[in-house]
Amino acid sequence: MEKDFPLELFYNKLIDWYIKHKRDLPWRETGEAYKIWLSEIILQQTRVQQGLQYYNVFTRRFPDLKSLAAADEKEVLLLWEGLGYYSRARNLLKTARIVSSHYKGQFPDQYDVLLQLPGIGPYTAAAIASFAFGAQHPAIDGNVKRLFSRILALEEPQDSPAFMKTATNFGAQLISGRDAAMFNQATMELGALVCTPKKPSCTLCPVQDLCLSHKMGIETLLPNKKQGNAVQKRYLNYIVAFHQRNEHQQKVFIRQRSERDIWAHLFEFPLIETKAPLAEADIESVIRKESGLHADEFRIIQLSPIQKHRLSHQLLHLRFIHIIIVCHDIPKWLSTYEQQAPMQLIEFAFPVVLKKYIKAHL
Ligand code: SF4
Repeated sequence: MEKDFPLELFYNKLIDWYIKHKRDLPWRETGEAYKIWLSEIILQQTRVQQGLQYYNVFTRRFPDLKSLAAADEKEVLLLWEGLGYYSRARNLLKTARIVSSHYKGQFPDQYDVLLQLPGIGPYTAAAIASFAFGAQHPAIDGNVKRLFSRILALEEPQDSPAFMKTATNFGAQLISGRDAAMFNQATMELGALVCTPKKPSCTLCPVQDLCLSHKMGIETLLPNKKQGNAVQKRYLNYIVAFHQRNEHQQKVFIRQRSERDIWAHLFEFPLIETKAPLAEADIESVIRKESGLHADEFRIIQLSPIQKHRLSHQLLHLRFIHIIIVCHDIPKWLSTYEQQAPMQLIEFAFPVVLKKYIKAHL
């Protein structure tokens, strides 16, 4: 995590947004550990709207822990019908009976003790401990993993120990000395409503200006759900195409990147991305195939060595291929590019690694 991440600012923006936009949900209106626990078990692997119906049914039929602990398992399973994952219902009953008999009907208020109860994992223990007892534990569910991975541009797989360590430390620093319950609710809500899996609504996001993955244009590539090596290898072949307009005027072709990818809105040369490094002998034919240029329209005049460039989540292999356009008219492939004199390129916003190349070679 970046050392100078503005924790206070992030927290304040998040909480301001949450107070204005949170959904009214009954388990947020209560401080009762029993109802908070019940809602958390129901909401595991369940959408909020569906979970709400079951929550209402269960709290009507079993308004407190005592009534649930005394229930018949058949009845609990029957009421659970349609929610799936019936082990949750069985654990619900087991935990109700343990709390009733071992803890005098009162949920333990300590995270570590909650973790010992059937059906309660780290996330649920943190949620109960913070929502019901104000304990300083970050509750990190799937929504929060996604949010944190994007805010911090974390490349580690989201279920890896390294990811969980960073996410937990980040959450712990954010709640330290602050309102842990509200913070946990707010991160989950932002993940559920704004920082959604496929199309995050970054324009509506209160912390957009602090989000590292958004700045890099890689938010939709995160979280990394893969196990193992998180680094993606990419092979970028940049075509530095010179066109001699007349005796004094030589131009090269550039464009502004628009894709939702790395380096969004920065400038670049015409790009041919390949799945593997190109052998030198294949370069000309690949250019012809990818660009539609004819053999008599260009000549390769220079090849750079492959240069590696590491981004947080990708290992780029860059090669600069200088070509000269030998036909008079601009070929169709290049017709949508801007033409600039090599000396002027320095004034454009290129990615740092391209800018370095330009300064050294153009
Ligand atoms: Fe998520 Fe976008 Fe907000 Fe970043 S800016 S936290 S990616 S919604």
